[in-house]
Amino acid sequence: MPDYKNILPESDFTVVGASFAGSLLASKLAPYGKVLLIDRIQPGTRLKCGGGVRAKEFERLGLDIPHVKVDRILMVEKDKSCRFNSKYVVVDRRELDAAVLKKALAAGAVFHKAGYFSHQTAENIMNVNIGAETVEYKYKKLILANGFNPCTGGKFYGSSYVEIVESRSRHEDALYFKLLDNTVGYCWMFPLPDGRVNIGIGSLSGEPFSRDDFRRFKEEQGITGKVVCRGGGMIPLLPSTSVMKGNVYFFGDSAGMVFSANGEGLRNIIKMSDIWTDCIVKGKNLNIRWMTNRTFIRLLISAMVVKTISSTGKSGSKIYNLLSRTAAFARSCLQ
Ligand SMILES: Cc1cc2nc3c(=O)[nH]c(=O)nc-3n(C[C@H](O)[C@H](O)[C@H](O)COP(=O)(O)OP(=O)(O)OC[C@H]3O[C@@H](n4cnc5c(N)ncnc54)[C@H](O)[C@@H]3O)c2cc1C
Repeated sequence: MPDYKNILPESDFTVVGASFAGSLLASKLAPYGKVLLIDRIQPGTRLKCGGGVRAKEFERLGLDIPHVKVDRILMVEKDKSCRFNSKYVVVDRRELDAAVLKKALAAGAVFHKAGYFSHQTAENIMNVNIGAETVEYKYKKLILANGFNPCTGGKFYGSSYVEIVESRSRHEDALYFKLLDNTVGYCWMFPLPDGRVNIGIGSLSGEPFSRDDFRRFKEEQGITGKVVCRGGGMIPLLPSTSVMKGNVYFFGDSAGMVFSANGEGLRNIIKMSDIWTDCIVKGKNLNIRWMTNRTFIRLLISAMVVKTISSTGKSGSKIYNLLSRTAAFARSCLQ
């Protein structure tokens, strides 16, 4: 095997995955030591998101990227609809990832295009693919922010598909959701800058999403423009209880940081990034900090509810829709 020192620079923190979670953490770790960030693809080239992020958390990022501000959530099920006020921002996720990576590089992190293969905790060594070569790399602290993997991340996950289309949303000031009547899940349509929309479908029951449901939704909403980009992926629905194993840490989707009731992950990643930074830098027990945190408890309760609903089979979508509308109605009454 070639000597790792000739290819990848030494680092105090090695972050695998330079998408949103990895790049954000790299930017926060950079003031405390040398950060090596690797990804098997160029960050900012893959669409994996609706791009909806709570305005409060988006502001914390301090990024100057194009975005649309919305004030309302609109939830529709057949002929019933419910709306409540909530301040969100919608971004093109590819631009968000590119901007966060830029921030990490400006803070001193170093990026290399390389694929993580495996690691051995006893020797602090990981195997990395660079082009056709596999090299060994000795890490000090390894952060796996490489997204959700069903082989290691558990069996409870959802599936989704998303497009960016050159069309205008009929609900320019809202995040629009249509609850599905045959599966636990929903279609969404979010307005993007420059007359584009982010439109997609997510199934939260473990069942595959329906392409027919997505096609019908696009037709209903009159979204007929040119498709600029397609993407999607799996959505982890259960937060991990083990986010630190020795010198190895998990962050983002690899730690299951998604609110399973609506598939929202970015907000939790932003909220948790300071706690992760503190524990990684100071060597504190992250598992205890995480499992006693309100975000973990919120994600766990939501996961248990969605899992129970999904296990009821065909009636699952009716229960999910009823609970979603009840929650939306309760929020609208409180405003
Ligand atoms: C269709 C869809 C819509 C969504 N919409 C929203 C939304 O509107 N709002 C919201 O808050 N959340 C949304 N989410 C959830 C949100 O996208 C995720 O929580 C978020 O992307 C997690 O970021 P991450 O960096 O942890 O993982 P990822 O974005 O999955 O990034 C993982 C990175 O690791 C890299 N990687 C993987 N394996 C390796 C390897 N072996 N070696 C090197 N690199 C590797 C990948 O190339 C990738 O760049 C959505 C999810 C989906 C699937």
